Amino acid sequence: MSHPILNVEDVTKTYDGFKAISNLTFYLFKGELRTVIGPNGAGKSTFFDLLTGRAKPDSGTIVFGQNTDLTSMNEYQINRLGIGRKFQTPSVYTDHTVWENLLLSLKGPRGVFATLFSRTTAAQRGRIDELLETIRLGEKRHWLAGQLAHGEKQWLEIGMLLAQEPEVLLVDEPAAGMTDEETARTGELLISLAGKHTIVVVEHDMTFVKQIARDGTVTVLHQGSVLCEGTFDFVQSHPRVREVYLGRGK
Ligand code: ADP
Ligand code: MG
Repeated sequence: MSHPILNVEDVTKTYDGFKAISNLTFYLFKGELRTVIGPNGAGKSTFFDLLTGRAKPDSGTIVFGQNTDLTSMNEYQINRLGIGRKFQTPSVYTDHTVWENLLLSLKGPRGVFATLFSRTTAAQRGRIDELLETIRLGEKRHWLAGQLAHGEKQWLEIGMLLAQEPEVLLVDEPAAGMTDEETARTGELLISLAGKHTIVVVEHDMTFVKQIARDGTVTVLHQGSVLCEGTFDFVQSHPRVREVYLGRGK
């Protein structure tokens, strides 16, 4: 196989003596749509904190591409490298329209004021149209983001993340609080982005995981380490996984 785009080896992160991440090794390949599952407290969000520079590992290595050491960089630098993260709760500009939210997120050096009060270029408008189509909010482009349904806000935020043109997208529990229909549409959206982007999705909802995993790799985290890794069917039928996670009626 080719060189991994993310190379995480033997990483440990301790909080007050508690190993939130414990000797974690994880390889992610370009264009993958990887799903990470695991019970509450397994270390999934901490893993994203480590990848994005929000937290620093006690030991181990995290390398992006051929040789970029992420453990020596801050959040801003890592984001600039092309690693974007979507948190669980949407953070859109509620008093601005969907269109403006996307404009404000486009890759570029200008501040909020300058962006909103200067002319937009044809290239910017074209890119926003593309994003609106991707997140299927074209008809609501003039709505204030605050008026959108929960699911639509999440899609807008994914659009805002895409506007930054990240190479790697880290998405934490996108289906939380969504209706079944919104969840299914979110799955379609993420599947449509795979290949062009490399995506890691942390998720609890197993119907959703099954939808997006298809024949891709699912990583099961347990007590900060990889418990097992493989196709959805493989991990679902793995006795240890059933014991620690699926068997608990979730
Ligand atoms: P998950 O996202 O899988 O539910 P987390 O990564 O949020 O799990 O948490 C893993 C463990 O690490 C939990 O026991 C949590 O309390 C602990 N933890 C995570 N972040 C911090 C922090 N900033 N300070 C102290 N403990 C933390
Ligand atoms: Mg979490």
